Amino acid sequence: MQSDTSRDNSEEPPACSSLDFLKEFRSAGRGFWSDVSDPDWNDWHWQLKHRITTLEQLQRLMPALTPEEYAGTQLANHKLALAITPYFFNLINPADENCPIRRQVIPRLEETLTAPWEMADPCAEDSHSPVPGLVHRYPDRVLFLVTDRCAAYCRYCTRSRLVSNASGYDFHPQFEEQIAYIRNTRSIRDVLLSGGDPLLLSDEKLEHLLSRLRAIPHVEFLRLGTRIPVFLPQRITPELCAMLKHYHPLFISIHSNHPRELTTEVRDALGRLADAGIPLGNQSVLLRHVNDDAAIMKAHAQKLLMCRVKPYYIYQCDLIAGSAHLRASVRNGIEIMEKLRGHTTGYAVPTYVIDAPGGGGKVPVGPEYVLSRNADRVVIRNYEGKIFEYPESADGTPLFAPPREIEEPELV
Ligand code: SF4
Repeated sequence: MQSDTSRDNSEEPPACSSLDFLKEFRSAGRGFWSDVSDPDWNDWHWQLKHRITTLEQLQRLMPALTPEEYAGTQLANHKLALAITPYFFNLINPADENCPIRRQVIPRLEETLTAPWEMADPCAEDSHSPVPGLVHRYPDRVLFLVTDRCAAYCRYCTRSRLVSNASGYDFHPQFEEQIAYIRNTRSIRDVLLSGGDPLLLSDEKLEHLLSRLRAIPHVEFLRLGTRIPVFLPQRITPELCAMLKHYHPLFISIHSNHPRELTTEVRDALGRLADAGIPLGNQSVLLRHVNDDAAIMKAHAQKLLMCRVKPYYIYQCDLIAGSAHLRASVRNGIEIMEKLRGHTTGYAVPTYVIDAPGGGGKVPVGPEYVLSRNADRVVIRNYEGKIFEYPESADGTPLFAPPREIEEPELV
């Protein structure tokens, strides 16, 4: 494809001040934990041990819980557990009921409301699972679930049926069986380790898995899907990065939704991973009153690039049971994409996808740029709405005659 660098110098209006504010890197600070020593605070085991997991702990730190949050937290441990690391908790604004960080991790009563089309397993992972803990939905790649635990729990999690083990799913990955299936299935060239969060495993356990997978000749490519750099940046130690760099090509997909999640701590952790030669991508979930706004998404994407992370996907929130209060609309998602493409660096523009309900896989959705396809041209529009014609024949043969006048463009 021809590159056109001249277009990168687009005449963008100066960034507005709110965008500048969102893009500032700040530390999460110590907040309620100001008396904790530096070694403890920076120790990922300390962070995990001191997570907020009960209503009592949450109330002590946030006496002004809303009635919906109070009731939701009372019920949470029967569905998807409550867990928030002290580090991530410091990003919550307790004075703001609509704080976008708060909405992602504090349970609400609305989680008990389920529409008929909502599902426990919206991507039909369980029915595409040839052995426990392995999902084989696409021909050349598999999802390898390594644990049901995360550093904190996202209230819209598509795997909430199994993560946190609050609803009795009884998740027991069988590493030997999972590896044997991959070894015996030569079409698999790409393995994505996920969960739960694979970076919750010890360095030793993770290295054991990576080395076993790397030893399979037809496995070309390894990936980790993790939210640890965002929930627990302390886990991204120099020792972890030194171990991971032995297993290239290894890519990491992180999961961040809002620019405020990208703190100085997160930027430094991501820098350590990038310095280990690991290409980084981000997956966001489009969430109501969190990031369903083009200015927020744009600031987030630009800030990710400053953290050396390529915005990879925006996911339409899956039809997970009890998530209606967090799901933004597809229309809204398309509008956001319209305001990103062409309006900022191409690298900052992710692909917006719907994971087709029932296991159909990812379907890209977005604004329409091809207006019509005729016998001798394709009619397109650009990000400003200007119309252009690209001459070509319908069957791909070289075209030399000038295009005829369009009488009635055939809309796509
Ligand atoms: S980190 Fe990922 S797997 Fe864990 S709760 Fe959040 S979305 Fe689910």
